[in-house]
Amino acid sequence: LGSEEEVNLLVIVMDVNPIWWGQQAQREPQFTLSKCMDAVMVMGNAHMSMSRTSKLAVIASHCQDSHFLYPSKTWRGGDGRDEDTSSSGDGKYELLSVANNLMAEEIRSIILKSEIKGTSTQTLLAGSLAKALCYIHRMSKELEGGQEIKSRILVIKAADDCALQYMNFMNVIFAAQKQSILIDACVLDSDSGLLQQACDITGGLYLKIPQKVALAQYLLWVFLPDSEQRSQLVLPPPAHVDYRAACFCHRNLIEIGYVCSVCLSIFCNFSPICTTCE
Ligand SMILES: [Zn+2]
Ligand SMILES: [Zn+2]
Repeated sequence: LGSEEEVNLLVIVMDVNPIWWGQQAQREPQFTLSKCMDAVMVMGNAHMSMSRTSKLAVIASHCQDSHFLYPSKTWRGGDGRDEDTSSSGDGKYELLSVANNLMAEEIRSIILKSEIKGTSTQTLLAGSLAKALCYIHRMSKELEGGQEIKSRILVIKAADDCALQYMNFMNVIFAAQKQSILIDACVLDSDSGLLQQACDITGGLYLKIPQKVALAQYLLWVFLPDSEQRSQLVLPPPAHVDYRAACFCHRNLIEIGYVCSVCLSIFCNFSPICTTCE
């Protein structure tokens, strides 16, 4: 275990794409969004129980925006809450029941309020990751003297990748790498080239789970241990990384392309003048 002075922050980014989850409920009624939420809570509770200095944040990634499920705006922290959300009388650690109730409340309101505007049905994952990085940055600024912070991000990915977000995504990945923040990915459905690169570059773990119903088990077994503990465990072998880049002209994934020698923009066709930097 790390020293008491080291804050261990885990930010979970959960893909709540309503279209994917709607289809999933038809395909596999035994694994719905609420089951996934349960598994995330188990993981979050386990993380917070590891040490007094463990901190948790959960972000729901929707089609057009991302929301904090925990900590949320309605929560003031500490023990000042006099509603019936805590002290269930079963001896459960109060912080855990407060956190769980908040997350359930927040996700309910997101699902009820959400409407799909426009034609974009892609999960705004790059935006949620950027939000996670901002939150980590803020937490590291708010540390007390002598404290250190170790942060990582766990993405629970459901819907397909969106090549339109390629540039934003890569920027987020390199920002995370610079701050030595691990990005882990637990993929529920089809493989994600963007997340494979994110995990490979930041030193995180990428796993496409073979059975969705066993999500909680994979989270606890593979993703709960931090980077130091992982070296002592026998974990699934690293995934093959799809390193194709998206061209800046059409956002198609290409293996061979033209690169501007000035700004490093990638194009699938030759053009004498780079459209990015001219
Ligand atoms: Zn192109
Ligand atoms: Zn250029």
